[in-house]
Parts: sequence; C-alpha cells; structure tokens
Amino acid sequence: MIFEPQRHKEPTMLPLRSFFTREDGAPKSTEIIDQVQRCRRLYNAIQHPRGQPNRNTCWTEIEKAFLADYEFSSVSKLRTMPALRQFVGYVLSRLEDAFAHPGPLQDGIWCEALVFSFERAQQDAEFWIKLLRTTLCNRPLGYESVQFILSSPEYAVPGADCENELSGLYRDFVLDNLRKRYPKANAVLQQRLADARVARWRMLHWHKRNMSTDGEPIALSSYRPEGFWPQPPALPAGAKEVLCPYCADAIPVAICEPERWKAHVLYDFHPYICMHEECNADAAFASTEDWNYHMCCHAWEDEEEACPLCKMDLPPGSARHLTEHLEEEIMSIQPHSHCPGKED
Ligand SMILES: [Zn+2]
Ligand SMILES: [Zn+2]
Ligand SMILES: [Zn+2]
Repeated sequence: MIFEPQRHKEPTMLPLRSFFTREDGAPKSTEIIDQVQRCRRLYNAIQHPRGQPNRNTCWTEIEKAFLADYEFSSVSKLRTMPALRQFVGYVLSRLEDAFAHPGPLQDGIWCEALVFSFERAQQDAEFWIKLLRTTLCNRPLGYESVQFILSSPEYAVPGADCENELSGLYRDFVLDNLRKRYPKANAVLQQRLADARVARWRMLHWHKRNMSTDGEPIALSSYRPEGFWPQPPALPAGAKEVLCPYCADAIPVAICEPERWKAHVLYDFHPYICMHEECNADAAFASTEDWNYHMCCHAWEDEEEACPLCKMDLPPGSARHLTEHLEEEIMSIQPHSHCPGKED
C-alpha cells in the first residue's frame, strides 16, 4: 500500500479580537519575551535531516526584532494595542508547539516513521511565522482604534460599587469641559477630542487592572500637581527595570531619563490626533513629525488660519500651538480617581 499523506491544511485561526476576552488573561510584554525566548531555544535545537533545507530561517529576524533593546523592540510597539499583543501571544504559543515537535532523528539515526509528522510541524511553523510577520509589519495603527476601546466591554471602567460603568459619566464631564474651554470649536472636533481622551482613560484603567504584581496594583500617585506631563515612576534603589504606570510594561530604568521618558510617554498616549473636521482616519500619532505629515494630507498648515480649537488667529507654521493643545488635553489624564467629577 502506498502511503499517501493528506494534503497539508493551513492551521485555523480565530479572528484577532476574539482573543481579547479569553479567560487566560492578557499577556504582558515580559511574557511575550519569554515566549520568544522559548521559541528561540526550541528553534536552535531542531535537528534538520542532513541535506534538507530549513524552511523557517526567517524566524531569526523576528526573534531579533523582539529581543532588541526595549525601545526598538517589536514588543514595545504592542503596548498601545493590547488586543494585538494578545493575538501575537497566541500565535507564538502555536509556533512554540510546532517548534517543539520531535525531529526525524532519533539518537542521530534517521527514523522514517517520524519524517511526515515532522514535516507537517515545520509547515505549521512556517504558517505561524508568516502570520506573525504580516501582523507585525502591517500594523495599521500605532494606537488601538478609539471605537474599539470605547465599545469593548474589556475596557469598561466599573465604579466603586462594581456595578455602574463610569465611562458615560466621564465622557459627559470631559465634553462639558471641552465645550467650556473651546466654545467656538466645531462640535465634531470637541467630540473627537472627548472620545480620544475617554479612550486613553479606559486604556489606562485597563493597564492598571492588568499590571498588578502579586495582586497589588501599582499606585498612579507620581503625578506632579502643578503640571500635566506624566511623570516617571519612582525608581527603587538598584533596580534595572521598573513598571511604567501608563503602559504597564517593565521598562529599563534608563528610559526614565527626561528625553527618553518624554518619547516613551508620548508613545503610551499617542496624543496627536487629527484635527481636520472631515477626517475619519482614526489617526493618532506619537510624534509631531508623523502628525505633521498626516495634517499635510489635509493641506493644513501653510495658510494663515484660526486655531480649530481656541479660534486664535495663527500665522503659517504654527503647528506647535495645536500640538500643545493636544498634549494638554490628552496627556493630563489622571486615572487614579474613580470619580469623574474629581478627576481634574
Ligand atoms: Zn509606558
Ligand atoms: Zn486626518
Ligand atoms: Zn488654539
């Protein structure tokens, strides 16, 4: 009888966001790094039959991107997109299974019976690596979609009685404030800014719920009362890493130096949102350069125009005026208070 292998089927996968409510909890960046390191060890231990090409060499590039210094690593880019990070964790766990499959060599001797299943596991690994690569390279956004954060029950913020959800109250409060401060601004922009702020507030609460070590939530008490800029966490003596209160990642303490900290929290908040009334790109950026590039698509900037928020007349090249508004509106969120009215 001729043994005829079944045609290899691609492993099935669930849609990205269905991972977000899995019961086993959301993986942290450090857990993703552990997974990558386990995959790395397994990959290096795979014994390929002599003369057979290793079909999964591009894994090493992905592994390098994950294990790079924190600021440049793939894993740090996932901190603003927890659902995507959860998906990456899932893909890595499937890859780990595939890499853990025994090779066709037993005690250095070629074992025909094991070849087929080994080959299948290698094909599975190839699929998961490709998926991981596409997921990381084609990330459409730098920050999770505002609509997703606002509508996903995963990000709900329960009140002190654990029953009422606070986001509606908080949004009313934020919008009311924005209307008072920018009474002449277009209602679409007032609402967009309110939504962006509420989304980050929900995300901060989510991180806070998920970053406990030994069940103890990290206190967000390091805000300077006189300024809105989020301050770095206190550094325990001799520590090499510290938990960031805004993204819950374990970050090297060197990132708490002023310039690097600024870049870090700008990424955590992605405060620069599009200020063009007709834009529906859900655009949010961590740098003024990226924001400028986006705003130029709307032919905004070079003409003399009034500020879309405070309506002050601005000479050409006054982008900084607007980015300062955005920093102040979005980065001054203080999630440690549960009571919307007392938040500011
Ligand atoms: Zn952070
Ligand atoms: Zn836009
Ligand atoms: Zn203004």
